[in-house]
Amino acid sequence: MSQVVSLRRRSPVQHGARSVRAKPVRVILERNCSVGRTVAILSDSWAFLVLRESYFAATRFDTFQSALGIPRATLTQRLRMLTAQGVLRRVQYSQRPKRFEYCLAAIGIALYPVMMALLAFGDKWLKKTAKPPIYLVHNLCGEVCRPMVVCSQCKEEVNVKTVTYRDGPGAGVTPVVDAKRNRRPSDPTVLDRGRPSSVAQTLKVIGDRWSFMVIREAFFGIRRFDDLQNKLGIAPNILTDRLDRLVAEGIFKRRKYQDLPERYEYPLTDKGKGLYGPLIAMLRWGDDWLAHGEVPLILQHNDCGKDFNPAVVCDHCRKLLKAKDMSYRHNYRLRRDSRPLKPGRPITLEEN
Ligand SMILES: [Zn+2]
Ligand SMILES: [Zn+2]
Repeated sequence: MSQVVSLRRRSPVQHGARSVRAKPVRVILERNCSVGRTVAILSDSWAFLVLRESYFAATRFDTFQSALGIPRATLTQRLRMLTAQGVLRRVQYSQRPKRFEYCLAAIGIALYPVMMALLAFGDKWLKKTAKPPIYLVHNLCGEVCRPMVVCSQCKEEVNVKTVTYRDGPGAGVTPVVDAKRNRRPSDPTVLDRGRPSSVAQTLKVIGDRWSFMVIREAFFGIRRFDDLQNKLGIAPNILTDRLDRLVAEGIFKRRKYQDLPERYEYPLTDKGKGLYGPLIAMLRWGDDWLAHGEVPLILQHNDCGKDFNPAVVCDHCRKLLKAKDMSYRHNYRLRRDSRPLKPGRPITLEEN
């Protein structure tokens, strides 16, 4: 469980004989959680868009740039970041002049099911038109499919009511210095760039780190304002802002549980509960790639009684969804200069 502690840092600089008053540094003990680590990567809107275009087979600088209309310096920076995180890898494709392209690495390929779970949520709850932006065609069974988050043991769909959890070997807390996480997330309005996307719509709801942490705590059963504030070490005005926004988005309900003084709690709505699938898909990815074998949480499926890993599968054939097995039918007009994909063409990715 996280809590807030104040440490006093001794100033390294001494001005003459007078010592400088030490400034308190807020350190927050944050719940070890693979989901938080995953969101740290996905919450950068530009990084997400670059990654999305990778799934649509973009590899070259110019292709990313024309698809997204992204400033060159921003693109360079994000490609560097995603490469450093091991999501993309840089491959030389021309000697003279020396040129590189950016292919999905194993971590990036493994992030695909997370994207699919986010997409399924967006298609169900955030759709603005009658049809979703794209139909997913699962080449293995030939059906238009809906990604479904299931128990790896019995292949049945899981939800917040049918799963219990307990601490794994990686459970605990990690101190995080406040200043680091107060960096403003990248502008969420850029998420509309390039093409309509249910994943982007979902990230607009949860992509901001604080909103995401509030939603995560809700799945741990924390729903009261004061408890959230204590657990997250979040400033009251920021917490109020995020909760208001999430209530407006229909993720939480607001309920008074005490009159004097007035106190509120924030239970998840059905729509909010729909985020459970994407959340545990992120958890799985984070466990596989970022937890170094020390899983913070173990999930148990009540229906079959077994410990399980969340798996994202095709709702028709229940096979795992992999990027290399999918093709897409677009329900929107492609920009003439967006080269990455023609509708229906399968994208092929190198598996590691
Ligand atoms: Zn099961
Ligand atoms: Zn299928």
